[in-house]
Amino acid sequence: MRNLARLSDEVESLKGELLNIASRLIKANSENPPGDTSKAASIAENYLKATGLSVRRIEPVEGHINVISSIGSGDYGLILCGHIDTVPIGDVNRWSFDPFSGQVVGGRVVGRGAVDMKGGVASILTAVRALVKYEKRLNERITIALFCDEETGGQYGARWVVENQSIKGKAMIIGEASNHYRFGHTIVAGEKGFLWLKLRFDGIPYHGSRPMLGDNAIMHAVKALSKLKNPILSKVKAPYEAINLVRWGKKVIMEEYKDKRNLKPHYSIDHYTLNTGVIKGGVKANIVPDSCEAELDLRIPIGGSRAEAEKIIKSLAEEGKIEYINYAPPSFTPPGSDLIKILRRVSQSIFKEKTPAVCIAATTDAHYFRSALNIPVVSYGPGYEEACHTYDESVDIVDILGCAKVYAHTSIITSS
Ligand SMILES: [Zn+2]
Repeated sequence: MRNLARLSDEVESLKGELLNIASRLIKANSENPPGDTSKAASIAENYLKATGLSVRRIEPVEGHINVISSIGSGDYGLILCGHIDTVPIGDVNRWSFDPFSGQVVGGRVVGRGAVDMKGGVASILTAVRALVKYEKRLNERITIALFCDEETGGQYGARWVVENQSIKGKAMIIGEASNHYRFGHTIVAGEKGFLWLKLRFDGIPYHGSRPMLGDNAIMHAVKALSKLKNPILSKVKAPYEAINLVRWGKKVIMEEYKDKRNLKPHYSIDHYTLNTGVIKGGVKANIVPDSCEAELDLRIPIGGSRAEAEKIIKSLAEEGKIEYINYAPPSFTPPGSDLIKILRRVSQSIFKEKTPAVCIAATTDAHYFRSALNIPVVSYGPGYEEACHTYDESVDIVDILGCAKVYAHTSIITSS
């Protein structure tokens, strides 16, 4: 552990560089859409090259650039993964500072992407630079994968790279924000799936002055959707290996939404839930509408399945024609996996927090990596998860520096 304490000192000595790179990445606008990551990719690429590593730049379409590199030799080991695109800034007037300033203010780096996830990318890059002096101790190759297009579904990012360039490794940490205001750091090891669908209702059009002669499709929709107004559906028992992920996921969410406990936010972890997100129908006030459509988002807990989700929808929406439009399965990495054990131990020693492995209610790219690469995959990174995609985004310097240490230590321990 003495050498590892030195590794922490090494990361600490790179604090100035860490802030500089985080700040420059934020300045390099990579809002998605449109998703042009060329500026941010060049910053990461040059930094890795200056570190002495060779870099693959993968550009499936102009401007959508992924950056892949590795340190060490031998078999492919841990993959440190992030994305360099961000969501758009939204209404610039709602920011209290320039979203692309990347300034360091009051112990925080501020701007679009500070949390999601240029801060995390800066932590990964700094960890890799600190590892240069320890390269001989790496018995496996550590891969750095920085993708574009994460915020719009990964078409030219992670998915393209996995399908066309075969990225290899035995475990993956995605540096997405997994810190919480009240609870502190967590390791996200499980997530729900979803089934999106359309419900279509048909009617018979007629002149609005004689509505009794038509058949109003909107009224059919109103009748059917009123049966779907409770967003909380049935509970699912998690499989044995995921019980603790679910239990801790609920604890974290209850802590974060303490003042809203009566709304049962923790049910979002282990229950099927339903949101009616879109309704469209009719043409004009004086025409009886002949069609109406609703789009629904049914979330599937760990232990649930698509077949069960379809059964639920069919029983709730007896009326209306169902069309399925998108699906992702629930997925998890067992908390007993080596990756999670090591990461938790390291994180606890750096941040002095409990750091449980948890299941979250949302769905991320992790499920894709779990099935495409068949390896343990977790998300762990700096920034409050609740601050992603918000105005006045900012990340704590202590957090990005701490996560850089965690990535460096975990790389050494997993590869030796
Ligand atoms: Zn993200």
